[in-house]
Amino acid sequence: MKLVSACLCGVNCKYNGKNNINLYFMELLREGEVIPVCPEQLGGLPTPRKPAEILGGSGQDVLVGNSRVVTRDGLDVTEYYIKGAYETLKIAQLADADTAVLKSRSPSCGNGYIYDGSFSYKTRKADGVTAALLKENGIRVTDEDDYMEKGVCQD
Ligand code: SF4
Repeated sequence: MKLVSACLCGVNCKYNGKNNINLYFMELLREGEVIPVCPEQLGGLPTPRKPAEILGGSGQDVLVGNSRVVTRDGLDVTEYYIKGAYETLKIAQLADADTAVLKSRSPSCGNGYIYDGSFSYKTRKADGVTAALLKENGIRVTDEDDYMEKGVCQD
């Protein structure tokens, strides 16, 4: 079983109340092949919500208290991101999921690249908070970009 970022399946859980639908992942959900998760909602944040980014560090740094997740106007929302990561891990373990396909560049779901904390759509190398926690616990993390590069699905 795989986890998938819920926004990729068409769930309106994105910060702006919209989604990042990809028909391939929506079809997998329809067929019962994947479990949709939204770490930010699981952490207790509302939808819509203010966009947030990791300041300076990585998801791993956030998990050990060395970096923070903040909104554009400076509100510290770190605790919600950490809670959401652990709730997502709980679902993965309960479902015996070995893989998670997450939304690229997100401060929660980003795999290898995240927005750089400047709120200008620039990215830098790092995992999001949930991606980092899943990897630390032996779950393979990939993203929709990887599926597109391999030709499994289209944007
Ligand atoms: Fe939720 Fe992750 Fe999608 Fe953000 S990228 S809306 S946290 S599932």
